[in-house]
Amino acid sequence: MDRLLWVDLAAGRTRKTRVPEEWKSCYLGGRGFTSRVLYDLVDAHVDPLSPENVLTVATGPLDGTLSPSSGRFTVGCKSPLTGLLGDANSGGHFGPELRFAGYDAVIIQGRARGPVYLLIDDDHVELRDASHLWGRGVFDTVSALEKAHGSDVKVIAIGQAGENLVPYANIMAAGHNAAGRTGVGAVMGSKNLKAIAVRGSRDIPVADDERFLAKVRECHRKLIADPTYADFSEYGTLILVDIAQASGGLSTRNGQLGLFEHYEDISSHVYQDTYKLASKACFSCILHCKNYARVASGPYQCENMGPEYETMVTLGSRVGVGSLAAILKANQLANDYGLDTISAGTSIAFLMECSQRGLIDERYEWGDADFVIDCLRKIAYRDGIGAFLAKGVKAMSREIPGSEGFALHVKGLELPAFDVRTGKGFALGEAVASRGGDHLRALPNFELLSKTREEGIRWFGSPDCVDPYTENGKVPMVIWHENYGAVCDSAEICKYCTFATYAVMPKDVADLLTFATGRAYSETDLLTIGERIVNVERVFNLRCGMTPDDDTLPKRFLTEGLAEGPAKDVTVDLGRMLPEYYSRRGWTLDGVPTREKIEALGIEVKGVA
Ligand code: SF4
Repeated sequence: MDRLLWVDLAAGRTRKTRVPEEWKSCYLGGRGFTSRVLYDLVDAHVDPLSPENVLTVATGPLDGTLSPSSGRFTVGCKSPLTGLLGDANSGGHFGPELRFAGYDAVIIQGRARGPVYLLIDDDHVELRDASHLWGRGVFDTVSALEKAHGSDVKVIAIGQAGENLVPYANIMAAGHNAAGRTGVGAVMGSKNLKAIAVRGSRDIPVADDERFLAKVRECHRKLIADPTYADFSEYGTLILVDIAQASGGLSTRNGQLGLFEHYEDISSHVYQDTYKLASKACFSCILHCKNYARVASGPYQCENMGPEYETMVTLGSRVGVGSLAAILKANQLANDYGLDTISAGTSIAFLMECSQRGLIDERYEWGDADFVIDCLRKIAYRDGIGAFLAKGVKAMSREIPGSEGFALHVKGLELPAFDVRTGKGFALGEAVASRGGDHLRALPNFELLSKTREEGIRWFGSPDCVDPYTENGKVPMVIWHENYGAVCDSAEICKYCTFATYAVMPKDVADLLTFATGRAYSETDLLTIGERIVNVERVFNLRCGMTPDDDTLPKRFLTEGLAEGPAKDVTVDLGRMLPEYYSRRGWTLDGVPTREKIEALGIEVKGVA
């Protein structure tokens, strides 16, 4: 524990150091560490696919304990897709295993001369030849490493997409948990690093086990008592397909519509009754939102971990596909190739709309499931049309005049499933998120959960913040979610535990951390840590060349109302939220953190106003 593992791929050397105390007290772990490494070690102008980029895999201080839903890890680097800060967070069992081996983070520098994988077996660390794995899919790679080193090793790996430097390639944990945004898999591929296999045998020390266990039980009781627990643990995130359709925000045909005519075919209940075999969970999680599914026969026959909401939409309604079996197959293939389903699906949807509008000569039809599935392979191999799709929506739209307005990205990162016209807090969160068009930085589900106006006042000082269709009262709510979200990502607690249920709150996390580590944390301490991380990321992005003009949304969401449904004619007015957001953040009118703010947060001053 408490160790950093440094890997110099060019020299083939590794070394171990203690985690600096200041990192732990000011950044916790996980995303806090990955962003701090970027801030300290990565030149903002570096080519993301060059050896100078640094890839950090970081766990959190609760990883490997019984703390609820806290077995995640974060991978960070400069993103090849956005040219800005990149990171991705994943569940599964890899994070705890890395801590069992005695490491809080692995910091990977340079580029190996040929394909290698990193084997970590407690104190034994070794770079091994991976020539026999190069070219193979994620599932095959994981199986081969389990066969070679024992079925108890936990593996993260890239597929063909990462090898071929697709800028939205994932790193996959155990084959089906995706560290899946901003192209961290391409950076791993650029380093000729195919996989990391880890096994650990250490116990995780807990400073006050009696009070820690009592707190864990209290959190479990609160989670189970929460009104969303029953549905979420039964249907997982797929319940959001139903919620999105009901609110008129089920992204359909690249966001031209918010109601999907084949919704009944892809609803969570149909999925449950037709294909789902079992619920599954990440390490130490009683929410068990994941699912295992089988398509028993037909052209889309497959059996694997099933899709989440994001995939169900971006490879489903967003491309017009209403066949659950086809979506399951596409999900399986994307995982095997190591592709971000949000970016891949949205790139395909963009191409289809270009075709619909006659902006390109080729004809691509909405709902053509076989075309979508074929595209995934072509993207992973950069083959034919796949080479164009592999550029991502922002770069594609630059080559197709007249398409910018419906290119669904922010800062180069393709937008997730939720249509932000039906949630103005989400709209603000995605416009300012430090990794681009991302819902998870803020994830202000509070506005979607039918909270009362009294609850709105009590939590965020505004009765209106509970109304998803208004901009009123959203800024304090989004800032709180961003700060607390950064804490969750750094403690490596799953946000479904904190923002799907609102059962585990900052005071609970402060207690869990205090009892686990022996270091006293208050709720205020944690929210300050979250604010510090948000500011470090903002400054890094500004150093990379981001401007406040990039804090925006696709024109579609700003000017085009939806044609029907509860959100009919609703558009997003960012101008009503952004100035207040910058002001409440203590940033200039141009969205630049002031020197006073940075110094007050104890951040070394580099590139601020
Ligand atoms: S809520 Fe779902 S994604 Fe989050 S830790 Fe639990 S099983 Fe994993």
